[in-house]
Amino acid sequence: MGSQMHINRDDLVGRDHFIACPSCDHLADLSSMAEGDRASCSHCGHLLCVLHRAGLNRVMAWSSSALIFLLLACSFPFLSFESSGLKNVMTLPMTVVRLYQQDMPDLAILIAGFIILIPAMVLLLLFNLATTLAYGRYNPWTNVMCRFVFQLQGWSMVEVFFIGVLISLVKLGKTATIVTGLSFWAYAAFSICFILAITGFDRLQAWRRIGELQEAG
Ligand SMILES: [Zn+2]
Repeated sequence: MGSQMHINRDDLVGRDHFIACPSCDHLADLSSMAEGDRASCSHCGHLLCVLHRAGLNRVMAWSSSALIFLLLACSFPFLSFESSGLKNVMTLPMTVVRLYQQDMPDLAILIAGFIILIPAMVLLLLFNLATTLAYGRYNPWTNVMCRFVFQLQGWSMVEVFFIGVLISLVKLGKTATIVTGLSFWAYAAFSICFILAITGFDRLQAWRRIGELQEAG
């Protein structure tokens, strides 16, 4: 009882194929896992990891697709509202500018960060990491990038934003005519590709590959 030891899961995975269950801290030995396997905690049943077949190639495909969809989502109208003869067309970057102009700089920074900048950074890092690991080009920065990517993942709120937009649309639909633009669908496609890219990049698979490359070079 009393003091609790903080376990850094990245340190454990890197050394001995051990992983600490995020739900109950039980240590599981995953050294016998092969591609295509999935492992759950023997104590609480929490899903620990899934070793996808051709995992790195999938991450490369999903992250590059997500980046293209994000670029499209920022380039075209997101939504247009029509109420009492007034039409208002909004793009994603324009929502950030409007918030800033309406004396809400903190909200503008939060929206720009969580919805556009952090997801874009996560995707660029993921694509870079997956390419580096898939082609066996290890360098000392690979470890730093890998840790950073796992830490950033918790700070992007793509799916939360998209669900928020859908709820607002249902509410606003009663008072105004809403037309969803090309960017809206591009952002929906981006959200799906983004989630597939980050769930496809498995912690154990990544650290195992880094271990192999460190031993080889
Ligand atoms: Zn557990």
